[in-house]
Amino acid sequence: MKRVGVIGGGQLAWMMADAAQKLGVKLLVQTPSEDDPAVSIAQETVFAPVDDANATKILAQKCDVITFENEFVNLQALSILAQQGVCFRPKLEALVPLLDKYDQRCYLRDLGLPVPQFFALEEVENLRSKIEYLGFPTVLKSRRHGYDGQGTFIIKDFATLEQKLSYETKTKPLNKSLFLLEEFIPFERELAIIAARSVEGEIVTYPVVETQQEQQVCRRVIAPAEITPNQAEEIEAIAHTLLNSLEVVGIFGIELFIKADGKVLVNEIAPRTHNSGHFSIDACETSQFEQHLRAVCGLPLGNPALQCAGAVMVNLLGYENSHSDYQSQRQQIAEIPQAHVHWYGKTESRPGRKLGHVTVLLDNQNQESTYSIAHNIESIWYPR
Ligand code: ADP
Repeated sequence: MKRVGVIGGGQLAWMMADAAQKLGVKLLVQTPSEDDPAVSIAQETVFAPVDDANATKILAQKCDVITFENEFVNLQALSILAQQGVCFRPKLEALVPLLDKYDQRCYLRDLGLPVPQFFALEEVENLRSKIEYLGFPTVLKSRRHGYDGQGTFIIKDFATLEQKLSYETKTKPLNKSLFLLEEFIPFERELAIIAARSVEGEIVTYPVVETQQEQQVCRRVIAPAEITPNQAEEIEAIAHTLLNSLEVVGIFGIELFIKADGKVLVNEIAPRTHNSGHFSIDACETSQFEQHLRAVCGLPLGNPALQCAGAVMVNLLGYENSHSDYQSQRQQIAEIPQAHVHWYGKTESRPGRKLGHVTVLLDNQNQESTYSIAHNIESIWYPR
């Protein structure tokens, strides 16, 4: 029996539970609140924020390996534990170039992978000429701690940019060292690929999916994406290059843009299981959560192939402040043929908060019927 410590106790850790049971793995989590989803499935919980390395030390004493559900950790403090022999998978060195979006872009560019044009805001001397080069709209992003579009601002003109730079909040100018500027990509679609690498260096990739964001938050995922075999190969090659270069162990999510001319660019790397891979629980032989546990426990990787023609995953996002458990909407959605509802058990709903998701397995890849299934779910879930 392996004991796996997970830093973070949100839905991504919660969804490891079935796989852990199947593999005979004991899960322990580090998470701040008793209400966090994974507390209910963990054999033991260390209650502390994810960046509390002292808590991770306590967690590590009870575990064979430590992994991440949330990457907003204190790498410097954790590296002391690594020196003392704590086993982190993926290893901490692999996270170093990823936690800051500017460093991540530099790392990808230096590997020869295609990324949007970008600049560290603090290094820009003549902002107006740089912006003229990038053009409007332009994208201003927090270098750290961004998620679900928090910290990503699409800026429409110079006046808006100057206003944003002068007042990040009502009282304070924006701290330039914390932001990057990048080219706005007028993407045709957004894509993602989930890939896993084992201790032995074996890599498997899941089918490339299409992700659909609204207000920068993922709303739907369609598996597989309608792309050409060449594009799929190109994206799989990007995943191989990246995972091999970082020498990681575990699951990684890679978000991409595809432009109208078919050109693919990497947007972002998540060094963990990812929302774009949730379909794999119901649609693939090995879910991303089982795959991650297999990898970090040193087991051989499982088959990532789809077991059906396709799948559509719809996030059930909060749309109000409430303590409701939305029982009747969930029930109605569960009655849709081939639907699998996953409810994270959060005690509080807030607008935009990920409360659950539903995956519907598809018998064919008819785009129209896929869209109508997603639309039906959303019309049951969201109030008119
Ligand atoms: P987060 O880490 O918060 O998810 P992302 O960088 O993935 O932030 O951005 C969230 C969403 O914002 C993306 O999925 C995309 O829809 C949009 N976006 C981000 N960067 C760009 C860009 N350079 N050009 C166009 N849209 C972008």
